[in-house]
Amino acid sequence: MTHPIRITIWNEYWHETNQPDIRAVYPDGIHTAIADGIASDDFEIRSATFYDPDFGLTDDVLASTDVLFWWGHVVHKEIPDELVTRIQKRILDGMGLVVLHSGHHSKLFGRMMGTSCNLSWREHEGGERERVWVVDPAHPIAKGLPESIVVPQSEMYGEPFDIPQPDHLVFVSWVEGGEVFRSGCCYHRGRGRIFYFSPGHESFPIYFQPEIRQVLANAARWCATPHEDGTRMVNRHRPEPLEPIGKLEATK
Ligand code: ZN
Repeated sequence: MTHPIRITIWNEYWHETNQPDIRAVYPDGIHTAIADGIASDDFEIRSATFYDPDFGLTDDVLASTDVLFWWGHVVHKEIPDELVTRIQKRILDGMGLVVLHSGHHSKLFGRMMGTSCNLSWREHEGGERERVWVVDPAHPIAKGLPESIVVPQSEMYGEPFDIPQPDHLVFVSWVEGGEVFRSGCCYHRGRGRIFYFSPGHESFPIYFQPEIRQVLANAARWCATPHEDGTRMVNRHRPEPLEPIGKLEATK
């Protein structure tokens, strides 16, 4: 890629707008915390929210986005199917997608997975400790990380998680209650790459944590690389018949 990786961070921005206790955690919104956290010379980052005209995701924005981040929770159902279809087309054509935390229940993630994406969860006062284990240290999304990341306060997400088997599983989490969860999953859809990462509940400052920011920066770089060959419809002609073996031998 000759130009910087063009990242659009979409955040519904509902909690930070409507709940003072959440605004206290993310005064400038989750999207700004992520943008500040992954800032790098090879990234060109902008953000969009539910409150922007066209949700900030016009055709022009999508066409000039290499990787789309998606944080949503409350307004999933208010995202028009037409927008989901436009984003899906861009992903199949090579745009990367990073789905965060409660985005597991977004229309977009459901569309790309084809399953309910249900999971078990528990919101406990003060949160619970989560240990995010790197289970594939050779994967580019694990670059520069310790063998595990401890999130001091997290919302419990646990198995069973109704997703297709990931193409690569990079992280598995253990939570204080004893549950486990496939917390970092990679998928290929058409020419596009998708990464789901679960830590990121709005009431805890998880996106200020350096290792979490490292995961997201790595994910942006991995998702930005589309497959060279996408799926194509080819009406392939039957090749000319090969010379019969007997005839070849006869010419020796
Ligand atoms: Zn949550």
